[in-house]
Amino acid sequence: MSLPLSQSTWASIETVFLDMDGTLLDLHFDNHFWLEHLPQRYAEIKGKKAQDAEQELLAMYAAKKGSLDWYCLDYWSEVLDVNIVALKQEVAERINVLPGVESFLQWVRKQDKRIVMVTNAHRDSLELKLQRVTLGHYFDRLISAHDLCEAKEVDGFWEKLQHEEPFITDRTLLIDDNASVLASAQRYGIKWLYGIAQPDRQQPQVKLDGFTALESLVDLVGGETD
Ligand SMILES: [Mg+2]
Repeated sequence: MSLPLSQSTWASIETVFLDMDGTLLDLHFDNHFWLEHLPQRYAEIKGKKAQDAEQELLAMYAAKKGSLDWYCLDYWSEVLDVNIVALKQEVAERINVLPGVESFLQWVRKQDKRIVMVTNAHRDSLELKLQRVTLGHYFDRLISAHDLCEAKEVDGFWEKLQHEEPFITDRTLLIDDNASVLASAQRYGIKWLYGIAQPDRQQPQVKLDGFTALESLVDLVGGETD
């Protein structure tokens, strides 16, 4: 698919669904929190050896990956018996918007499209992040997968979303850094699907099988953002 999208393609798009973590926001915060900060603080709080705490957490993450529990702060607060929101606050200065995101949102806003954030993030996580970055005003609506009781990776999610937030598959664009989410949206029939080349700016670029990965969201609109 050549970039940017043509004017006629943009004219055909009515709804823009955007993921949050790794798409609008640098995934570095989440990676740092779950892989470094939480293991370290969990070890301190529980009096465990750092290496033991890390092994324990990694095994627990692996067992829950892709499920709604994986994204649920209440779940982790309960099973680990720590206050995840408070621990996230300790490193909240690492929450950052990815380059090009605001220009893209400003441009799409001017085109009078419906813009909806569709995230697997828990409401508390959404709130914490939107307190740190001022992106909320660009959206007509913010939807957490927790409200629909299904993760975006799961077939059935898009049907549930359709009831909550009606959209025409041929006239919908979804941008998400998760290839499993793009694949599930594709099976449902969403026409315009894009991934993100470098969700975590402190890690190398990633390759998404079968989907075009954007270096920046503005690549979809070319030089038209002014
Ligand atoms: Mg994401």
